[in-house]
Amino acid sequence: MPPTDTQTINACRVCQAPTLKQFFDLGRQPLANALPQKPDEPEQTYPLSLSWCPSCSLVQLNETVSPKALFSQYVWVTGTSSTARDYAETFYQRTMAHLAKPEAKKFILEIASNDGTFLIPFRDHGHRILGVDPAKNIVEMAEKGGIPTRCAFFSELTAEEIVKTDGPADMVIARNVLPHVANTRDFIAGIGRCVGTDGVAVIEVHDASIIQNELHYDSIYHEHLCYFTVKSLERLLNDAGLSLIDLEPSPISGGSMVVYAAKGKSTETPAVQQRRDQETNQHTNEFSRWQQFAEQSFRHRDQFTQLLDQIRQDGRTVVGYGASARSSTLLNFCGIGPELLAAIADQNPWKQGRYTAGTHIPIVAPEQTLGRNPGYVVILAWNFADEIISILKTKYRYGGGVILPLPRTPRLVERI
Ligand SMILES: [Zn+2]
Repeated sequence: MPPTDTQTINACRVCQAPTLKQFFDLGRQPLANALPQKPDEPEQTYPLSLSWCPSCSLVQLNETVSPKALFSQYVWVTGTSSTARDYAETFYQRTMAHLAKPEAKKFILEIASNDGTFLIPFRDHGHRILGVDPAKNIVEMAEKGGIPTRCAFFSELTAEEIVKTDGPADMVIARNVLPHVANTRDFIAGIGRCVGTDGVAVIEVHDASIIQNELHYDSIYHEHLCYFTVKSLERLLNDAGLSLIDLEPSPISGGSMVVYAAKGKSTETPAVQQRRDQETNQHTNEFSRWQQFAEQSFRHRDQFTQLLDQIRQDGRTVVGYGASARSSTLLNFCGIGPELLAAIADQNPWKQGRYTAGTHIPIVAPEQTLGRNPGYVVILAWNFADEIISILKTKYRYGGGVILPLPRTPRLVERI
């Protein structure tokens, strides 16, 4: 039976232009976080393909899987990554520097605040904070940790309610959430509604120009509906009465950018124009460049599977580390199952004992597989490679070889 919880778009998610051009079909794939408990459990798959908008250049998924199907499987908790906790403090320092009179007490609103990790430094410096998150269990966890959090999907309507009860915000934070929402224009209108006259919106998204340059095709999955360049993001912001004032690369998440926007026309830093120029010079927003990206992804698939196959023929075992959402696309797109990757080690107890979606590789506790001294460990969450290599060495006393599937090309390190 075809799935009823998916919808094909008939217009651009940002500018509403009616005709989009498809350039990359990754085939039907299961939801990245729907990890089966048995390898033969029936699984629902959904089309996964990308199009480009000739009008605003936005790269986007052609299908929207309903939030109900997607978020029933949601397991990510921000605070579980120590890199995220360290980044929260840096994020506080950097963002406060963008506010007028930073010494005054501010009202900070975070959308999709998860367990509240990023609001903690603001609270600890005496600012008024409020989180918004749709996941009930995560909201309860945040409240227990002393982070006031409203349980809601953010929209223009929610924004109006917040402004009514709490007033306009000096800062609205939206980290890694904008590409996930189906109603992109309503979401950004809500942000525009909440930002006060002298306030700033701080939006973090995966940078599509880095996706393109470093071949992060594994960041394409059903939850990520939009892939923003500065050009397409700026178009969206302008439509909501916001203007881009600054941007900087994010130190975590492997290729994200943090953009700052303010109400009306505001002075921008030179970094903004530099990025516009860079996108022009590198042809980032052109259709032919995205077609090339798709071709490079298919070539990478061949290289990576040949490498794993060669190791298998040499009689050595390969296991994976980190059953992340992005690893699901990589494994399904490359068609890698337990014959090439014997098991995947993951520290999250909820994932242990389950199988990877679509490819049915057993997910086990790290002690269970690393102790057997495999030939190589594929670092699937390669965007956290430094943190993972350090865990492998110190916590699990692993000193063998590792394979980093990306960025760009697979890399093999004989000993860490
Ligand atoms: Zn468009």
